[in-house]
Amino acid sequence: MGRMLKALSERTLELGPARFAEPSGHFKVATDDNGIVWMVLDRSDKSVNTIDRPMLEELAIHIARFETEKPAAVVLRSGKRAGFAAGADINQFVGASTADIKAALTQGHEVLDRLAALPCRTVAVIHGHCLGAGLELALACDRRIAVANASLGFPEVMLGLHPGLGGTVRAPAVADPVEAMTMMLTGRAMPAKRAKSVGLVDAVVEERHVASAVEAAFYGDLRKKPQSFAGKAMAFKPARSFAARMMRKKTAEKVKEEHYPAPFRLIDLWEENGGDPKAMQKAEIDSFARLIESETSKNLVRVFFLREKMKSLKEGASGVSHLHVIGAGAMGGEIAAWAAAQGFLVTLGDIKVEPIGKAIGKATKMLERALKDPLKVRDALDRLIPDPDGLGVAHADLVIEAAPEKIALKHKIYAEIEPKLKDGALLATNTSALPLADLASGLKDPSRFVGLHFFNPVSRMQLVEIVRHDAIAPETERRATAFAAEISRLPAPVASAPGFLVNRALTPYMAEALVLLDEGLPKERIDQRAEEFGMPMGPIELTDQVGLDIALDVATSLRERLGENTLPAAPGWLTKMVEEKRLGRKTGRGLYDYGEDGKPKKVATDALPDDAKDDQDLIDRLILPMLNAVVACLDEGVITDEEITDGAMIFGTGFAPFRGGPVHYARQRGIDAIVTRMQELAAKHGPRFSPHPGWERLKG
Ligand code: NAD
Repeated sequence: MGRMLKALSERTLELGPARFAEPSGHFKVATDDNGIVWMVLDRSDKSVNTIDRPMLEELAIHIARFETEKPAAVVLRSGKRAGFAAGADINQFVGASTADIKAALTQGHEVLDRLAALPCRTVAVIHGHCLGAGLELALACDRRIAVANASLGFPEVMLGLHPGLGGTVRAPAVADPVEAMTMMLTGRAMPAKRAKSVGLVDAVVEERHVASAVEAAFYGDLRKKPQSFAGKAMAFKPARSFAARMMRKKTAEKVKEEHYPAPFRLIDLWEENGGDPKAMQKAEIDSFARLIESETSKNLVRVFFLREKMKSLKEGASGVSHLHVIGAGAMGGEIAAWAAAQGFLVTLGDIKVEPIGKAIGKATKMLERALKDPLKVRDALDRLIPDPDGLGVAHADLVIEAAPEKIALKHKIYAEIEPKLKDGALLATNTSALPLADLASGLKDPSRFVGLHFFNPVSRMQLVEIVRHDAIAPETERRATAFAAEISRLPAPVASAPGFLVNRALTPYMAEALVLLDEGLPKERIDQRAEEFGMPMGPIELTDQVGLDIALDVATSLRERLGENTLPAAPGWLTKMVEEKRLGRKTGRGLYDYGEDGKPKKVATDALPDDAKDDQDLIDRLILPMLNAVVACLDEGVITDEEITDGAMIFGTGFAPFRGGPVHYARQRGIDAIVTRMQELAAKHGPRFSPHPGWERLKG
C-alpha cells in the first residue's frame, strides 16, 4: 500500500500543453485548443521556485500580453516537483535600503494587481509547498485548486515580518478573516483540506484530476463561495477591534511585543484598514518596510541563514539506510522514532523488553504530534522495528548507542557489538559528557566511531553536535554530518571537550540560577528575568526539566574538569534533593512542584512579596557566564565557526533567536562593555565571572 501511494504521488505533474513548451526565462507558456493559457513557473536558476523582482518582471510581460490578446483563461502552476513556490527570495532584502524595498514592493503589488484584474478567469493550481509570496501570487488568481499534498502558509513572522505582497489584504478577503489572520500570526502552514475549509482554496483534488478540475473552474462548476458571515462582519471596525483584542491577547501569551513586534503590527494593520483594501495595501507596504529595518527582523533573517549554513555542512550522502539504536530510553526511543519518520529503516534494541514497548508507545504520540498525518505516522511506525535481540546490529549502516551514561557499561556494549558490525558501518554514541577518546579506547577500529549528541526532546531540538576525536576518520565525520542533515536536524561539528559546546554553555546559566536561589531570590523572579531576556525557559524550570540528578552530575563533572573557578559549587541542598529523589519534572517534584498537566506551579510574579526585589546584576549573572563559556569554546577550538556557534546555541538551547545568537549579541552589545561588566561581577561575586582571554580575539 505504502509503495502504491508513493507511486501515485510521484506521477507526473499535469502541465497541459506547456509540458512541451520551450522555457522562456522562468516560465513555460503554451495555449491549448480551447484558448486556455497554461503558464508553468519553473525557475531555471533554482531547484525550488522563489519570488523575486526579475521573476515578477517576467510575469508582468506575460500579463501585458494577456491584457491585449485576451485568452479564454490562464492556468498558473509550478513545474517543480517540490511545490508551487517557497516564498520571496530573502537575499534580495539583505542590505537593501528602505526606499529600494518600498519601490520593489510597490512594483510587485502592481504586477499582482494586474494579474488579479485580468478580464479572463485565472486559476492557480497548487501542489506541495505554497508559502509566503508564493501564496500571495496564488491569491491574486481568481480561483485556487489545491492538489491533496499541498501545504499553504505565511511563514513571514518567523523572519520578524508579515506578508508584504498583498497577502494581508487578499488572504482575509478570500478566506475566513480570523483564520487568515491566525495563519499569518502563527506562521503555521495548513494542509490542503484545511485550506479548503477556511476558504483559502476552492477545491482539493488528486493530481490525476487536475485537468478536469481546471476545466470545471473555467466552465462554471466551481462556484465562488459567498463570503462567510464572519467575513462580512469583519468589514466593520468594531467587530475587527473586538477580534483584534483577542488576537493581541493570544499573541502576547506566546511572544513579547518588544522582542517580536511583527504579529502586533499585523494586528494593528488589519484592525485599522481591514475594511479598505486600497488603504490596507499601502499600509502593508509601509509596515513591511519598517519591520524589515528592525533589529528583530535582521536577527531572524540571520537565523534563517545560520540554519541554511548548518544544512550546507552536509557533503554528499551518509550512505545510511538502516539505523540500529541501542537503548530505548528517553533519548534512544525518540532518536529511533524520529529517524523512522524521516524515512529510515530503524531497529531499536534494549537490554530489557519493557523500555522498547514504552518507546514505541511514546513514539506513536510524538509522531502524531509532529507529522499530523495518520498515513505518515503509520508508515513511520512500519519502519520502526522492535529488536530486543539486537539482530539489527549486524545489518545496520549506523549504530547509535544511547545506553546510560556509564563508561564501563558503554565499553561492554561496544565490545559485544563491534565484531558484529557490517563493513563500513558507523558506530555513534549519544553521550552528553564522556570523553570520546575514553569511550573509543577499547575499540578495534576507532576511526568509525563518532559522537552524535542529540538534544531532548529530539523532535523539537534541531541541533545535533557531531563530536570528533583524535582517531576519527574524516569520512566518518562527513557521513555522520550528512546523516544528521538527512533526518532534518542541524549538525554542528565540535571537539570532544568537556560538555562539548551546548552543555558547557548552559551549565553556568543553570548553576548561577541556583546560587541566586540560595541568595534568597524567588525562583519565579529568576525565571521571569531570563524569559524577559528571551530565553525559552527560565534556568530553574530548565534544571527541573533536565532532572536535578543529571544537572548535578553534569555540573559536578564540568567543574572537576574545567576548574573550580569556572562554575559555582552546587549547593548542598541540591545533593539532598537528589538523594530524596526530588528530581524535577520527571518525579513531579523538584525546584517547583508539578501538576497533573506536567506544568510547574509558579507563584505569579506580581504576587511576590515586595522585598523580593531584583538583584541588579541578575540577568547579567545568568547570561554572561553562558557567553563566557561560548567564547572559551571558540578560543579552545571546541567549535571554530562563529556563525555555527550561534546557530548551535539557538537550535540546541533556544537562545533568544531575535538576538541572533550569543556571539552576535555580544558583538552588538560591545565586547569591551561585556569584558568590563564581567570584571565588575568578578570583583563582586567571585572569579567564575572573570572574562575568558578569548574575548580579546573576538575584538579582532
Ligand atoms: P535512559 O536511562 O532513559 O535510557 C537508557 C536505556 O538503555 C534504558 O532503557 C536501559 O534499559 C537501556 N540499557 C541499559 N543497559 C543496556 C545495555 N547493556 N544494552 C542495551 N540497552 C541498555 O537514558 P537516556 O536519558 O536516554 O540517556 C542515554 C544516553 O543519552 C546517555 O549517554 C545520556 O548521557 C545521553 N543523553 C541524554 C539526554 C537527556 O536529556 N536525557 C540528552 C542528551 C544525551
